[in-house]
This record gives sequence, structure tokens and C-alpha cells, in this order.
Amino acid sequence: MSELLSVFLHLLLFKLVAPVTFRHHRYDDLVRTLYKVHNECPQITRVYSIGRSVQGRHLYVLEISDYPGFHEPLEPEVKYVGNMHGNEVLGRELLLQLCEFLCEEFRNGNRRVARLVQDTRIHVLPSMNPDGYEVAAAKGPNSSGYLVGRNNANGVDLNRNFPDLNTYIYYNEKYGGPNHHLPLPDNWKSQVEPETQAVIQWMRSFNFVLSANLHGGAVVANYPYDKSLEHRVRGFRSAANSPTPDDKLFQKLAKVYSYAHGWMHQGWNCGDYFPDGITNGASWYSLSKGMQDFNYLHTNCFEITLELSCNKFPGQEELQREWLGNREALIQFLEQVHHGIKGMVLDENYNNLAGAVISVSGINHDVTSGDHGDYFRLLLPGTYIVTATAPGFDPETVSVTVGPGEPILVNFHLKRSMAQASPVKRAPSGGRRVRVKVQPRGARKKEMEVKQPRRGPA
Ligand SMILES: [Zn+2]
Repeated sequence: MSELLSVFLHLLLFKLVAPVTFRHHRYDDLVRTLYKVHNECPQITRVYSIGRSVQGRHLYVLEISDYPGFHEPLEPEVKYVGNMHGNEVLGRELLLQLCEFLCEEFRNGNRRVARLVQDTRIHVLPSMNPDGYEVAAAKGPNSSGYLVGRNNANGVDLNRNFPDLNTYIYYNEKYGGPNHHLPLPDNWKSQVEPETQAVIQWMRSFNFVLSANLHGGAVVANYPYDKSLEHRVRGFRSAANSPTPDDKLFQKLAKVYSYAHGWMHQGWNCGDYFPDGITNGASWYSLSKGMQDFNYLHTNCFEITLELSCNKFPGQEELQREWLGNREALIQFLEQVHHGIKGMVLDENYNNLAGAVISVSGINHDVTSGDHGDYFRLLLPGTYIVTATAPGFDPETVSVTVGPGEPILVNFHLKRSMAQASPVKRAPSGGRRVRVKVQPRGARKKEMEVKQPRRGPA
């Protein structure tokens, strides 16, 4: 065998068996990795920053879609957020692996991945708390302790830092009032950290439909609400099942993850038992000002919180096993955005109507159409009465049967109301959505900031 051939075969063999590198990524390495994926798959990716951390690190997002940078009507937007707690690092590494995997498999012609990329606009924020991560990483795996690096550089727990909208929704459920898109407090920017503000502005600038927030310290898929109705009883935080109007849907989303995961569904993990590997957030422990409740109450986005490892900072040698345990679940969860109903809301002249409200009878939680007039309503299989309304137009109601597969396309053509000729916002010239005002009386409660959770990794 010639030496040249031998070298060639060696290189070929090396290429075939060279393991994907599983390592912890410090900030510079993370940024390099995102741009490396972009350089390998420029046609389906885009790197953008949603803002900066307290110490000035960018909060970088990798977008994966067939038209990066553009919203295609009827193509849903989904997001993954990792490393919100700086010392819970597995999500950060899994999301980097996911970005590399989607890029490589797309290039390899994997039909399932190609379809996902063509039909979905995926946004991945591997680290929401890059400052906290650096503090934890300086200590290294297995030694960072429970709290070192958890908070941002101002010492604030970002998952206790979102405006509390639960107090308003619990009031509205009892006394009447909007059941969706609860407004932000006027001075919200002064109440939240830079990382939280960046994420809220991100949520408001895309019409996200589905999301997961990746944490560590337990192994369970946790769904809203995180805050119980009686958050504190005589000074103690109470734990009580606090279902949303979409409870069955959230349970199913959580189960999709837990059953596609290598071992989450088995229930016994890290010394805790969760049937099916899922839990309502508040029935585990009540948490105020968390991100998943905020997603549901302020936007069209349905978010769950994934607790992915007993050890918050696992050693490098565990990363490959964890990736293999989570890979299918991360893909299947993204695919869940393609269920229920979706469609366009148009006027008689086929203009898009942004901010139209889509209501499903029996579910006290509406969604709205986005800037392009398209809406997405995740639903379990069943028959539903669905109504579209917009100010100045007559409502339109249809009956629709949803199956377990592809979303059903339901378009609405609203006719201008004769009774009322008030102006209506039209996309894309108008604002994002019709604003609703909520003024609950007597429902304003001052929440104490919870600095150190009794337990609870979320
Ligand atoms: Zn956490």
C-alpha cells in the first residue's frame, strides 16, 4: 500500500469515526460555535443578538429556518432558552449540540430535519445568563455548589424576575377580564434585569407559538402555572396544582418530551418521583415571576420548563450520554408546533388583520393573529367551535375537527360591521396587536422577592 493511500485511508477513517466534540463551552467558545454552525449552514441559519448581559456579554440566538431573517406566513416560530440559571449548564450544551445536529443533518439530506427546517422557524438562545455561567464555570464541574453562578451579575434570579401577571389573571378569572395578552406594568423596564428585558422584547417582536426553557437540578418536564393561586399562606409558600385553561395540552407537551427522553418518563429521578416524568409547576412548589407563566399570559407562546439533570454542572464525560438521552425529545418537542389549527385572518378585500382574537369555546385562553394576519392555535385532537373577532368587524364562528396529525387550516374572512365603523389596525402598517387594558381593583399584591428557593431547581 502506498504511503499516500495509507494517509488517505487514515484520514477517511478518522473522518468517519471522529467523535463529535462534547465539551463545556465558555463564552468565547460558545460564540465561535454558533458562528461555526452558521458558516457551515449559511443558507438556513442566522446569528443575532437580543441584547447584552449586565457585564456586556451578548445574548446570542441562532435562528434555523429555510428563510432566516424572515417570517413566512403560516410558518410557526418556536424557541429554546438555555442556561437561565448560570450554574445549570446542561441545557446550554444540549442546545449547541442541537444547532450542530440540525445543520449537519440538513446537509446530509435527513428528510425529517429538512422538513422541520422548511416548515418551522427555530430560535435557539443557548445562554440567557452568560455572566452567571462564567462564575460557575470558573469553579468547574461538580464543584460549583447549589447557588454559585445561579443568578445574574446583579445577584438576581432571572426566573423570579418577570412581571407578575398571575395576580391579574387570577383576578380576571374570578371577576371577568381579558384572558390573554395581559399588559406589562408601565414601569416594567425599571423592574427587571437587562437579561429579562432583552428576553421580553424578543418575545414581543416574534409571534412565538411554542417554547421550552432548559434547567437542571432535577429530571422532569414542568408546565404552567408555576405560581399557585395562594402563593403564600401564613408566610409559607404553598404547593397546589394550578392548571391553566390549556392544562391537558400542556400535560401532553410535557409528556412528549418526557417519553421521548431516555429516562425522564420513568418518574424516579434524583430522589424525586414524578408520574410520567411531568409536573404542574405550582404543585411541585409555587414560584412567582417565572418565565413560563409570563409567556402564556403576555404572548401567544406556550412554554414549558425542562429540568434535565440531577447534577447542575455535570462533567464533560457525561455530555454525550445526555445528548443521546435528549436528542429525540428536543426534535419531537419542536415538531409539536405543527398541531391544532392555523390560518389567516383577512377582511373582505383580503387585507391581513393583525391582532384579531381567536377564541375556542370551552378554553378560557385566546390567541391573536400576528403582524402578517396569521394565527396558530395549538389544540389536542377533538371538535371545537372557534371564533375570530376584530374591532370593527363582525365575528365569524366555525366548527372544526382536529386530528392527531397536521394542523387544520382555518382561514377567516371578516366582514366590516355595519353597526360600528371604528378604525382597525391592519398589518403590516399597524401596530403588532390590539391592546387591551386591565385595571383590576384590589388585586394588586406586593410580592416579596424570593432570593433563595427552599428547594427547586427551576
Ligand atoms: Zn434552574
